[in-house]
Amino acid sequence: MSDIVVRVSSRGAERWVRGHPWIFRSDVLDQPAEAGLVTVTDQRGRTLGQALHSPRSEIRLRLLERNSRPIDIAWWREQLTSALNRRAGIDASAYRVVHGEGDGLPSLVVDRYDRWVVVQLLSAGIESQRDLIMEAISSVLAPDGILLRNDVAVRRKEGLAELVELAQGTVPEAIEVREGGVRYLAAPWTGQKTGAFLDQRPARMLAGSLTPPGGRALDCFSYHGSFALHLAQRAASVLALDSSASALERGAENAALNDMANIEWRETDAFEELRRMERARERFDIIALDPPAFAKSRGAVPKALQGYREINLRAMRLLQPGGTLVTASCSFHVGRASFLEMLTMAAGDSGRRMVLREVLGQGVDHPELLTVPETGYLKGAVLTAR
Ligand code: SAH
Repeated sequence: MSDIVVRVSSRGAERWVRGHPWIFRSDVLDQPAEAGLVTVTDQRGRTLGQALHSPRSEIRLRLLERNSRPIDIAWWREQLTSALNRRAGIDASAYRVVHGEGDGLPSLVVDRYDRWVVVQLLSAGIESQRDLIMEAISSVLAPDGILLRNDVAVRRKEGLAELVELAQGTVPEAIEVREGGVRYLAAPWTGQKTGAFLDQRPARMLAGSLTPPGGRALDCFSYHGSFALHLAQRAASVLALDSSASALERGAENAALNDMANIEWRETDAFEELRRMERARERFDIIALDPPAFAKSRGAVPKALQGYREINLRAMRLLQPGGTLVTASCSFHVGRASFLEMLTMAAGDSGRRMVLREVLGQGVDHPELLTVPETGYLKGAVLTAR
């Protein structure tokens, strides 16, 4: 254990007891200058565990280990191996291997894209463990290359620079990955998040399986077309909407990769297009609605809910009788209850009878811990229209 000891208040200690790994600045009694591993004790000197210390952050301590065993290369290998084992059976070559706090490794993200790995180190404490983490990834995952996508704004709160850095080997500009029956190109250096929206894999595969053969499908916020590709496996035609031309270009490349010629890529504002198609009385057998986070802060929630309500209402009205809506929200500030309430309001406005078939959460590779609300942000639902 580290010789650097940090004492915490009883309120700080209570957070760990209640299953949350963070202890905030106001509950920390000692202030070492350095970022790194520390031994944490209560005010009487009783050891509580080992934590990552971030000297500049409001989140001062992140619990790593309750026991006294050394946090060395063997420890990191063991953590990575357990995390990997929890992902056994995922039918895709790209998925998250470590989901930070959800996997007991606070502020660490490790995403696998086939033979390559993309990592995010999101605190000063975890940054101090970089060499051990890289070594453990090398031995457990044996990748051809590791890229650090540390171009994330939260790093500023930790006093860290935002940058993209090749840590090991080589990482190509585009990586071809497989997800169920489709293949797509991830963009590790420049794409959203670490190169793709891995979190929606279960919803995409479900949407694919719910598509009626020969049906007409709509993907509203398509990005690189990942929902569209799954829908296109069975649909006669898919319409993919996005306001970004470059995102749609990548979508079209993905379609070519799968020899799919039944997807139309339309650069447009989804709000406007949904309204227009409603007026034109267009109909679809299945619609995927996976917008960006409308609420980036708590204050933005009311406006965001209006936005979600509008697009869901339009989508409901565009469904064929018996048609399916797969809808989601990735706004952390919009909880599951408000999301479902919003859908209820939209259904009320729609004039359609909507059946709730399934409530969706996060996949096994993005574990949401009940005692750590920050690990959960994605929620969704499958609805069918009468
Ligand atoms: N469904 C995708 C992720 C969607 S990300 C997947 O599973 O991979 C959100 C996308 O919405 C981005 O590509 C962004 O360009 C697009 N977008 C944001 N606002 C939009 C708008 N008003 N109309 C259409 N597309 C929009």
